[in-house]
Amino acid sequence: MGRRKTQKIIRTTQRNSTIGRCPHCRTIGKIFLLGKPGQERCKCDKCRAEFDI
Ligand SMILES: [Zn+2]
Repeated sequence: MGRRKTQKIIRTTQRNSTIGRCPHCRTIGKIFLLGKPGQERCKCDKCRAEFDI
């Protein structure tokens, strides 16, 4: 019993998701919020198109 493994909390890109309407495929579904605050981009889960809020 030697080493202690320290667990680092790795913060990957936050993938917040919301429910919204995609302007491309016009379906209401899950939409991911990407990018920095203020410059957020939305990505549709269904058609994978990116668009501005
Ligand atoms: Zn879509």
